[in-house]
Amino acid sequence: MTQETFPEIREAVRKLCARFPGGYWRELDRERAYPTAFVQALTEAGFLSVLIPEEYGGSGLGLGAATAVLEEIHRSGCNGGACHAQMYTMGTVLKHGTPAQKQAYLPKIATGELRLQAFGVTEPDAGTDTTRITTFAKKVGDKYVVNGRKLWISRAEHSDLMVLLCRTSPRDEAKTSAGMSVLLVDMREARGAGLTITPVRTMLNHATTELLFEDLEVPAENLVGEEGKGFKYILDGMNAERILIAAECIGDGRWFVERASRYATERVVFDRPIGQNQGIQFPIARAHVHVEAADLMRWKAADLFDAGQPCGAEANMAKLLGADASWEAANAALQTHGGFGMATEYDIERKFRETRLYQIAPISTNLILAHVGQHVLGMPRSF
Ligand SMILES: Cc1cc2nc3c(=O)[nH]c(=O)nc-3n(C[C@H](O)[C@H](O)[C@H](O)COP(=O)(O)OP(=O)(O)OC[C@H]3O[C@@H](n4cnc5c(N)ncnc54)[C@H](O)[C@@H]3O)c2cc1C
Repeated sequence: MTQETFPEIREAVRKLCARFPGGYWRELDRERAYPTAFVQALTEAGFLSVLIPEEYGGSGLGLGAATAVLEEIHRSGCNGGACHAQMYTMGTVLKHGTPAQKQAYLPKIATGELRLQAFGVTEPDAGTDTTRITTFAKKVGDKYVVNGRKLWISRAEHSDLMVLLCRTSPRDEAKTSAGMSVLLVDMREARGAGLTITPVRTMLNHATTELLFEDLEVPAENLVGEEGKGFKYILDGMNAERILIAAECIGDGRWFVERASRYATERVVFDRPIGQNQGIQFPIARAHVHVEAADLMRWKAADLFDAGQPCGAEANMAKLLGADASWEAANAALQTHGGFGMATEYDIERKFRETRLYQIAPISTNLILAHVGQHVLGMPRSF
């Protein structure tokens, strides 16, 4: 066995998660309700501010430590989807914000007084092609006036601030990624004053929403960085997001493998534990192998990120390997549990639905393969 990384952090996260067992998540899942108590506990324990530098009140740790937090949350049967954005969305402000913006927001994000959980990029008509977004922020005096629509914006109802990507000039065919900007929207002021939030019910409990902007006024001082460079700023944050999500997948994968191997050892049918049958044992063993392999790529990506080295290829590969491994483990666990895998009280079907998301969001598997094919291997571009 290799030594466990960040053992103190992992132990503390495990202890916290033990207070939120399967029954807690099942009830929320049934109601599609937000895990407020869980998010509050993580905030108070300081786990959501690990990436914020100490000068702004965070722990100033690297991405590797943050991945350990999310992995343990998922390995414990919990789900970080309700709050993981509080960890990394602030990176846009930290990297590109003015000193005044950093002072105004980061210390309060670190304490949890301000929730920066929402990240508004995707639009119904643009899909993965972000350059096609049409939500427009028009500069009028000392304000931007925003009109448009966003879809799949998670946690918008549970966030005080949102990092919003919008167009500030029309799409230029010669330079499609130019002309987009990042605004920091104060959701408390915006709701009912030009911003309408509509929840979207999905196959998992994810607090995702549709946003409608109708002449929403945002102070010009809430522009993050330079006007027109927003697409680059959003891309800057994506490697961190992919590595963190890979860790969630690895945590899920380990949870499924542990549950499946335990059940396979205990469940007796035809006078023998079902795990004695290789048709049950091998898929679990194979999933374990793939989770461990994904973990190696996660650490390669996280170490490069923390060393300030380029890590786009590794971050994408870690996300793909993690998502595939957790999905494989989910299938093996469901099959191992037979009919009981379908019963809500075993939590397998809930986690199965939850981990399926990672094939689609925050980036779909095909788009990662396109990145690897075109940018790593230099094959012809498909878009
Ligand atoms: C629960 C949930 C939460 C989300 N939270 C957020 C959020 O907080 N903020 C946010 O901004 N977005 C969020 N998203 C959006 C998410 O990032 C997108 O759903 C995802 O990027 C895919 O975009 P799309 O759904 O528009 O699919 P589309 O772009 O319409 O693609 C559909 C399918 O076609 C494939 N495809 C498209 N183009 C190609 C191509 N050139 N080659 C091969 N295959 C292709 C895709 O891989 C995909 O499988 C969330 C989504 C979900 C479901």
